[in-house]
Amino acid sequence: MKSSILTMCVAAAFVLCGSAAVPAGAQSVDTVLVNGKILTVDGQFSTREGLAVRDGKIAAVGTTADVRKLAGPQTRVVDLQGRTVIPGLIDSHLHAIRAALSFSTEVNWIGAPSLVDALARIREASRTMKPGAWLIVAGGWNVQQFKENRRPTQAELVAAAPNNPVYVQLGYGWAMLTPAAARALNINSEADLPSGGRFEKDAGGRPTGAVTGGQGAIVALFDRLPRPTADQQVEGTKLFFRELNRLGLTGVVDPGGNNLMPDDYQAVFKVWRDGQLAVRIAYTLCGQTPGSEFEELKNWTALLPIGFGDDLLRFNGLGERITAAMNNNDRPSESDKDHYYQIVKWAADRGMSLTMHWGQEASVDQLLSIFERVNKEVPIANLRWSIAHLNNASVRSLERMKALGVGWTVQDAMYFGGDQFVQQSGAEAARRVPPVVTASRLGVAIGAGTDAHRVASYNPFTALQWFLDGKTVAGTAIRGPEETPSRADALRFYTIGSAWFSRDERKRGSLEVGKLADLAVLSKDYMTVPVEQIGGIESVLTMLGGKVVYAAAPYQQLESR
Ligand SMILES: [Zn+2]
Repeated sequence: MKSSILTMCVAAAFVLCGSAAVPAGAQSVDTVLVNGKILTVDGQFSTREGLAVRDGKIAAVGTTADVRKLAGPQTRVVDLQGRTVIPGLIDSHLHAIRAALSFSTEVNWIGAPSLVDALARIREASRTMKPGAWLIVAGGWNVQQFKENRRPTQAELVAAAPNNPVYVQLGYGWAMLTPAAARALNINSEADLPSGGRFEKDAGGRPTGAVTGGQGAIVALFDRLPRPTADQQVEGTKLFFRELNRLGLTGVVDPGGNNLMPDDYQAVFKVWRDGQLAVRIAYTLCGQTPGSEFEELKNWTALLPIGFGDDLLRFNGLGERITAAMNNNDRPSESDKDHYYQIVKWAADRGMSLTMHWGQEASVDQLLSIFERVNKEVPIANLRWSIAHLNNASVRSLERMKALGVGWTVQDAMYFGGDQFVQQSGAEAARRVPPVVTASRLGVAIGAGTDAHRVASYNPFTALQWFLDGKTVAGTAIRGPEETPSRADALRFYTIGSAWFSRDERKRGSLEVGKLADLAVLSKDYMTVPVEQIGGIESVLTMLGGKVVYAAAPYQQLESR
């Protein structure tokens, strides 16, 4: 690898650079990483052997010899032994604040290969949690991930945890309760369910124990479950962010969520205040109360200008739900649209970013027309507005987004939902879903992510593998090569691409001099390992601002917890 003395000199612009690699009089650096394969994700996607960190930022990248010269007696030297390093991953659409609240009190089925394994996690939780504790699986799984290819029965859940109330939710359409759970929630008949909720019946007409209904009914049912205490929420937040660090994540753009009220932000605020935030969070606020969203958002943001916060926790505007009336509504009325327009015009006047959940290409003109109307009055090109999802975006819609400067956050929704998409829209339509290669060519800003944790797994390597092989959880390859990005591009989406959505692409998202030292050392080489092994990659060393926030063998001793 070529020496990059030049890189160091140019970037360390404030230090006078002579002929030597080490600027005269410069203090030694805090950490150097040597003998690695460092994917910098800079403009040329260049690879380096070494990287030096000073005061939380990258002081140099170059050969092993280059960065060793910057080390002093106090410098920590990390021998990468040929391992691959990537910029810390950034999920541009992860409901992390909400997922974190219950992470210490929920049972996680993410990645369970079989129902037997999933039920074993319930059994294990019944042993490790307090006697009689609620065992809640809040989502993040799908039947096709199980060898058995089916949902659990009520009897299986009772057998796994006879002495606990058990609640298992699938997406936003189905939830199974054990009799103990139904009793605890005072659900004796269908009339006791939230509006729209129904008991599922088997072929013989007998209730299965599950509740079905629209998203509203399932969200309302979930809200009846006991909430974790404040201490549990703080504990869950720390554990969840550590879990993200284990998977190489150092940043999240958080799009709020249903029923996420000001109280629900207190745990993440406390962890931030205590200096223990291990993932950088840019958070947005959703309108929550149907009909009064404008007043609500005005109140909540009156003293919260866009960008308020620091590099760890920052206010990033509105969304992904602005008004209930425009949420998953393919045919909004004129008054729905006018109310929405008032809010987003107001946001534009205040220079706010926003992100908007939109599912269907067929109706996205409704949204884009409003954005175009606002843009004629207040230019939005620099406000980092974005649309989330829109998996079947047309070329025309992508062109309109590009013209507005509106970005696109892309999730691996087809990993769980692809087989259903093929059934509904056909194999031909699925070949281009989502059209990230076309969007890149058009110059639309793209961020990658998952939409976890109710509807998806938060594992970024599951999503990266899916970007590259287009396979659903059942193993069906549905995407064509035309819309399959290169490994380099998929990694760009997950790093520098996602950084754009919180206006951070000059601060992080690549490993370049002067940027924050957020990085992950990987268990396998992302660039060369067979594609089917990418989903199994983990971090063995994650740094946030140069601080070790997660370490596994052989680097365990670097973590001071
Ligand atoms: Zn969404």
